[in-house]
Amino acid sequence: MRLIKTLLLLSLALFFRLAIAGDFSPIPSASRMTDVSKATVPFDLATLKSNWRQRITTMRAQGVVPIIDIESNLGEDLDMQSFAHQMDDEGVALIAFSGIAKGRGWSDAARYAVAVDPWRYIPTGDGGLPPDWKKNPMTFVRTTKERITLDGYPLMGEYEFRHYPSPDQIQRGNNERDENFPIDSPAGHELFRFSAESDIPFQIHQEIEDALLPPIEKMLAQYPKAKVIWCHLAQMRYQDRNTIYGPDYVRKLIEQNPNLYFDLFSGPPDHIYPSSKEYPGKYWDRSTGKLKPEWAKLIADFPWRFMTALDLNTFIMGSFSKKVNMQRAVLDSLPQSAREIVAYRAAWKLLFNEDI
Ligand SMILES: [Zn+2]
Repeated sequence: MRLIKTLLLLSLALFFRLAIAGDFSPIPSASRMTDVSKATVPFDLATLKSNWRQRITTMRAQGVVPIIDIESNLGEDLDMQSFAHQMDDEGVALIAFSGIAKGRGWSDAARYAVAVDPWRYIPTGDGGLPPDWKKNPMTFVRTTKERITLDGYPLMGEYEFRHYPSPDQIQRGNNERDENFPIDSPAGHELFRFSAESDIPFQIHQEIEDALLPPIEKMLAQYPKAKVIWCHLAQMRYQDRNTIYGPDYVRKLIEQNPNLYFDLFSGPPDHIYPSSKEYPGKYWDRSTGKLKPEWAKLIADFPWRFMTALDLNTFIMGSFSKKVNMQRAVLDSLPQSAREIVAYRAAWKLLFNEDI
């Protein structure tokens, strides 16, 4: 009798766990996003925001700290149904879904994503990635300006300026994405100017090197209204190319530039960058798996300037859960008062100029 009672209780507990896990928002009815029609534009942000707010509220009510991923490059081949479950399992409320143009000029992938799943994705402009951005940056900026304005995207994608090949590319023997594109080039100026005029934030990938700091400082000073998210705080792939950037330097930049933000993506503390054989994640304390105190203090002092990010691309979807865990380790290193701000409130405030 006792055994039956225990089994009954266990299965009830399991039932409620499963019921809760799938309960944050509806699961999309299609797996392939291109099986549905693209969302009409301009995006219906009022309806989308009400869905997203509801999703965040539901997660919080169930004791989950929701995460907004501010930077990921995803394509039309994402399995929308199974990924919806994965996001719910990991407490990822929203992903800024940036499409990949792949030589087509613009992908419209974010329009498909939002059409098939209006609960989980913030439509974000295509990223400045090769080949489109690299081959003809001015054309890509013109397309960006047109699409962002007419379609009503609340965020632009990540534009690669200095970009070393990513570890997954090196593994695949692809060293093409070794970009060296000056941030103060005409296309760079055009982007900063557009952001300043439109109030729409954009993201930059700029490796941390002494020689690259003066041009970015110059651009930030020239366009104080441009909203810039500098991706991957403290990711340093060649230590000997940097003697300047550290928590004190970032603090100074933040104090001088009211519209400068950082995304917090990093690989795990023990990750080694294959080309330099160095640990690129400079904010980690490898002995504790948490942030070094000086980085934690910086983020805690300016929590509205930092945002969680997963930096997903189609080749690394298998490590989704690991990437979320890394961002949760960052959040766990912060004082309680800063955690929810960095996890999702700062992103909401930046994108919609309102509190959540
Ligand atoms: Zn990047």
